[in-house]
This record gives sequence, C-alpha cells and structure tokens, in this order.
Amino acid sequence: MKAFVMRSIGKVGFEDKPVPDNPGPNGAIIQTSCALVCTSDTHTVSGGIGERTNLTLGHEAVGTIHRLGSDVKTHLKEGDRVAVNAITPCYRCENCLRGYSSQCSEMLGGWKFANIKDEVFAEYFHVSDAEANLVPIPEAVPDEAAVYTCDMMSTGFIGAENASIPIGGTVAVFAQGPVGLMATAGARLLGAGLVIAVESIPNRLELARHFGADVVIDFQKEDPVEGILDITGGCGVDSAIEALGARDTFEDCVKVTRPGGTISNVGYHGKGEYVMIPRMAWGVGMGEKTIRTALCPGGKERMERLLRLIERGRIDPTPMTTHTFRFEDMEKAFHMMETKEDDILKPLIRFG
Ligand SMILES: [Zn+2]
Ligand SMILES: [Zn+2]
Repeated sequence: MKAFVMRSIGKVGFEDKPVPDNPGPNGAIIQTSCALVCTSDTHTVSGGIGERTNLTLGHEAVGTIHRLGSDVKTHLKEGDRVAVNAITPCYRCENCLRGYSSQCSEMLGGWKFANIKDEVFAEYFHVSDAEANLVPIPEAVPDEAAVYTCDMMSTGFIGAENASIPIGGTVAVFAQGPVGLMATAGARLLGAGLVIAVESIPNRLELARHFGADVVIDFQKEDPVEGILDITGGCGVDSAIEALGARDTFEDCVKVTRPGGTISNVGYHGKGEYVMIPRMAWGVGMGEKTIRTALCPGGKERMERLLRLIERGRIDPTPMTTHTFRFEDMEKAFHMMETKEDDILKPLIRFG
C-alpha cells in the first residue's frame, strides 16, 4: 500500500509499505476513508519531536474496520465505520488509572500515532486497544464531519472545558486556527456570556464569528490586552484560552485574566526553553489565577459525546475544511499546510 511518510527531518514523500495484516488480540486494522492534515504533522516533520525515519504521518482519520483482534468482543465488528482519536491510551497503566490517559505511561505518552508508530496517512492503519479507542460513527454523521472529532474538536473543547467558564462568564480565545475555533465553539456550548476571539487572518476572523465569537479583535490593528480590558470594563475575563503555542499569547492570557480566573493552554509550545509568566499580572504569585494544560483527550466515551454533538446538530465542524485533496496529491496538501498559502485552514484528504 501507499503511505505518506516523514523520511527524515524536513523530508516527506510516498513509500510502499505492506498492508498491516495482524491486528493483535486487542487491536484493529482500519481501512482509511478520509483524513485531515494537522499543523502538528508539520511540526513533527520540521523536527519538533526529533528524528524519525520513514514514519507514516497523520493522526486524524476515520475509516472502516478491515480486521479485528480475536479478543475484541464488544460494540465493534469488521466493516463498521469508525473513528479513532489522535490519542490512543492503553487504559491500564498507572497514569491512565490515575485519570490522566493522555499522559499514558509517561508525559504525552497517549500520543502514539505518527510519533512512535506508523499511522493514518496510508490506505490501512493499526489501532491498539480497540475496545477503548474505536467508536462506531452514527449513520447521520458523514466521515467528512466525524474526522474532526479525532483532534480538532477534542482539543478545542478541552481548552474550553479546562477554562472553568462560569455560566454567562467572559472568555478570550487567543488564535483562531482550527483548535482556537473549536475552543470558541466550546466556550459557547458551555454557556459563556461573552466570547472574544483574537486573530488577524480574515477568513479565520469570519469563522470565529460563525462558531460563536461575539467580538473579534484583530491583533494587527489593536493591542489585544487593551482591547479585552476595554470590553470588560477593566476587569479582564473569567477565562483565557491559549490556542497558538507562543510566548506572547500565553503572557497575554495571564494579563487579561481577572483574579480567580483560569488560563487554559492547548497551544503546542514548539520553540524556546521557557514560557514566561508575567509577574505583576500574576499578582506577584498571589492573584489566584489558575493555569491548566491538556493534550487532546481520547477514548471511546469522549468520542461518542463529540459525535453526538454533530449528530444532534449542535455543531457542524465542516466549514473549517478549506481544501480537499485526493490521497495521491498529499504532497501538495502537506506543502500548503507548511506554508499556509491560500489561507488554508484544514485540508481534507480522500482515500480510494
Ligand atoms: Zn492534529
Ligand atoms: Zn496508559
């Protein structure tokens, strides 16, 4: 089969690989139907997690069960249309049992796809611990929408969930890439009374309004800290969500959060040795501002809830798909994701 791989740092391309034929007793082999390219795939290729050789990329995909392990007895059968989260914990190790499944075995250890094993930019891929990690997709939910539950919805929504938003409370979301947009949508779903989105790219600002931002601040035209303090009568917001992974936006989150509020980080801080906390805005360490972080929560139970939101019409993530490619044209899709040309947000890849 064809697989789209990271050959080494900075190099990608197609490789012929054997179809994985052994699911193992608890695993499954999935035939891929569609996938999304993620900015973190490009971070991986640029060396974000170190060197990899001929590693199949991708961690956001849905498909049908091609082969199922002999010990998988519940809720799944071959031929089922299924989704799997980008994070696939074991649900047996100490960290999983402590309730931190994204940190499976070790910090960030739930992230196995396209990190420690070949993954979804291929015609077939393997999923371990299928009973806990695979979820059937409801009939009313098309693959093109379900694929957003793998990472974008789960990550964006945990940004909002971790932000401890009081009902009717005020929220600022820094950056409106796909994760930030889903944090905006998540804040609305959780009952925020005012959602302020910070971004500068026009199509992202437009989508921010579409997904529920009441106010958008273009940081190229206005200082976002001043803008947010203005809108909130100088108080600051109850909750600030960092959805970019940059020092400046993280510091701005601390500055705009009111005492007792929460800073929720879902951005991937890919550069530099340190992330700084602005001392005065932190109440010199006594402002009762909480900082929380998360890695995309996985597992069947969460995936079922995310799919229910689509099935019941609470959200339609598909306006984030700005481009569609056939798998053969993966190289172009990947390159555009690196350069962000043509205001690309999420490229959908179709297989078969
Ligand atoms: Zn992703
Ligand atoms: Zn585990």
